[in-house]
Amino acid sequence: GPGRVVVVGGGFGGVTAARYLKLMNPALSVTLVEPRDTYFSCPGSNEAIAGLSGLGTLERSYATVSRAFDIKKVNAQATHLDRPRRRIVLSDGSEVPYDRLILSPGIDFRWDAIEGYDEAASRTVPHAWKAGPQTAMLARQLRAMPDGGRVLITVPANPYRCPPGPYERASLIACYLKKHKPRSKVLILDAKTRFSKQPAFEQAWRELYGDMLEWISSEKQGRLERVDAAARSVETEFDTFRADVLNVIPPQKAGALAEVSGLTDGSGWCPVDPMSFASPFDSAIHVIGDACQAAPMPKSAFSANSQAKVCAAAVIASLAGEPPPEPLLINHCYSLVAPDEAISISGVYGYSWNDGQLATRSAGETPPDGDRKREAAYARIWQRNFRADVFG
Ligand code: FAD
Repeated sequence: GPGRVVVVGGGFGGVTAARYLKLMNPALSVTLVEPRDTYFSCPGSNEAIAGLSGLGTLERSYATVSRAFDIKKVNAQATHLDRPRRRIVLSDGSEVPYDRLILSPGIDFRWDAIEGYDEAASRTVPHAWKAGPQTAMLARQLRAMPDGGRVLITVPANPYRCPPGPYERASLIACYLKKHKPRSKVLILDAKTRFSKQPAFEQAWRELYGDMLEWISSEKQGRLERVDAAARSVETEFDTFRADVLNVIPPQKAGALAEVSGLTDGSGWCPVDPMSFASPFDSAIHVIGDACQAAPMPKSAFSANSQAKVCAAAVIASLAGEPPPEPLLINHCYSLVAPDEAISISGVYGYSWNDGQLATRSAGETPPDGDRKREAAYARIWQRNFRADVFG
């Protein structure tokens, strides 16, 4: 037969892969393993936090994917892989066999990286870096904060999911505060000394939010040493910062399934051959999305979608005993800085035959004096088209 392909993880990477496998070869048997009935999208979640849209707008259904595309959805968590027997072991003990496996498990948090910020602490001090109840919690805390309060966002070092995401979040929170609680402030405590789209973000902040929003580089404050969830305060090497609303975005790693399956290296992420996204540890397994190392591509939904299409083509070629087609990958990422103003960054990535890695073929970003209103209109169109491309 044409082969059994199983995809684990029904997020942007996994759903795109499952769909495009079926588009490219309808005869293929494609199974999607994902425990949740509905997916919550991180793209759009900063708008929901700032009250610009409802949380309901983040929900995505798997109905179109499974019905219109004849993809079998298994509602279960994969606990581990039996790699020698090419089987996925599910939480209820049952097994799903595969000829090729595509993993897109997303991220997990390094709960041991910051003293005082573990999973229990995240139940009162949200990270809101996986959308859903965490997004709702941060939105609620922001609504409940009195005027004159301080919102503090801590940002990890690279690499992490969505490099410009924390700065979009700070912008939209400042926008909410300016309107509803104008004596309040947003502080970003960064583990880095520079960040994605920085010139355009900083120009927008000066024009729109003045001294309501402050970014503090690690040059000034050093390491984030400790979080006190009960006191809602954080300690850096040099100071203690108290917050009324505290949002800690912790350091991250590949989703746990990749780690327990021996597909990660010392970095905590999964190395891959960017020609096919196959794992160097197991040629029957491909890893895409946030979990894989695809630098210089950033970890974004757009990247995951682009990688999924390259990976689907490579899997189909490999089942036919053929080499994968040479890939060209794209990322294009919008950040809203106000409800009707956005900035963006894009990159095109090709395969470098010299070192077997991805290389940037072209790149660009909104300049500080760019047309932010026009970019916001493009951002809306992208959101609609992207949603349709992935979830239908
Ligand atoms: P995910 O989308 O996280 O999907 C992983 C899926 O795998 C989940 O559904 C999970 O339930 C499932 N899973 C995990 N482990 C298992 C297991 N063991 N068994 C079964 N299922 C499992 N990107 C953009 O391109 N544009 C944006 O505007 C943008 N905005 C963002 C804003 C914020 C605030 C954040 C946090 C992120 C944003 N992103 C954006 C980034 C984007 O959300 C991620 O890059 C994207 O979700 C990665 O897709 P993925 O498939 O790798 O992982």
